[in-house]
Amino acid sequence: MRQRLLDIYQALFDCFGPQHWWPGETPLEILVGAVLTQNTNWSNVSRAIDNLRRAGLLSLDALVHLPTPLLAEQIRPSGYYNLKAVRLQNLLHHIAASAGSVEGYFDRRPTASLREELLAIKGIGPETADSILLYAGNKPTFVVDAYTHRILNRHGLVADESDYHELQALFLDHLEPDVTLFNEYHALIVRTAKEFCRKSNPACDACPLKGF
Ligand code: SF4
Repeated sequence: MRQRLLDIYQALFDCFGPQHWWPGETPLEILVGAVLTQNTNWSNVSRAIDNLRRAGLLSLDALVHLPTPLLAEQIRPSGYYNLKAVRLQNLLHHIAASAGSVEGYFDRRPTASLREELLAIKGIGPETADSILLYAGNKPTFVVDAYTHRILNRHGLVADESDYHELQALFLDHLEPDVTLFNEYHALIVRTAKEFCRKSNPACDACPLKGF
């Protein structure tokens, strides 16, 4: 399995090259993006983050103290903005109270403990928590999503009913805990699903995973 996963990675990397994820200038910005990207596309998230940047609000202190309705207005382009404003502030309040800074938060505890803490915050599910840990915290966890399931399932590597934990375990159990590899691998899977492995009519003939 290990070799198969590495061969898939290599085929995708050879085809697409580095994906330069996650788009964000600081760990805080990446973390904000990880919450705002729930149920929307990145261009909408990008517009919301641009609003925050223009308003001088891209700091932990500013975001924690901003009244929730004003935060919601700033992030309106990301959709579900009232809900996301609450979720984002839940997360940022937790980080501010427990560490005082985003960087300090990631430095202070093992990855498994941080993951438990993040999952205990209302509105932070496994995909968001793992995205935060991997892309903002440089922690060696693997992010999986519906795209991951679709591709692995179509290649017979996971069952139809596999859940998040089973999908993630496939990578964590067979690959070294390598932040660079995990970062790139997830990004390449997303790229493959968007360009070739669509929900209906997958373009297998042109796909780098044809033959796998
Ligand atoms: S498009 Fe076809 S070959 Fe490519 S990942 Fe999907 S099922 Fe596999």
